[in-house]
Amino acid sequence: METVFSKIIEGVIPSKKVFENERILAFHDIEPAAPVHVLIIPKKYIASMNEVTPEDLPLIGEIHAVAQQLAAELGIADTGYRLINNCGPDSGMAVPHLHYHLLGGAKLGALTG
Ligand code: 5GP
Repeated sequence: METVFSKIIEGVIPSKKVFENERILAFHDIEPAAPVHVLIIPKKYIASMNEVTPEDLPLIGEIHAVAQQLAAELGIADTGYRLINNCGPDSGMAVPHLHYHLLGGAKLGALTG
């Protein structure tokens, strides 16, 4: 499934990378919603949280470890941050490739639902 994120993984669309290994890529969001707004994605294509399988759980755990590392490197570990996954139409998910938003660097607004 080709998406804007698969093109970023392939390097067809440029991005400001902050982390990369064989399994995971993290880069600054093009429309930041906070002073720090990084997207963390698996390189493996997973459409959304709904398609995560038990075999993917080590990868999901590694994404959390990368988020923790990036929060420290980007200076928001102590002030606080959110790690958000949108899934499905009601969430506003726009790109159908599993991704996590790492947001921080300012007092964040209340969650709405
Ligand atoms: P979603 O609403 O699907 O959870 O979030 C998708 C995010 O991808 C949005 O915050 C949007 O700004 C970001 N995004 C969309 N296209 C691009 C792009 O070409 N480059 C980067 N760096 N971010 C993008």
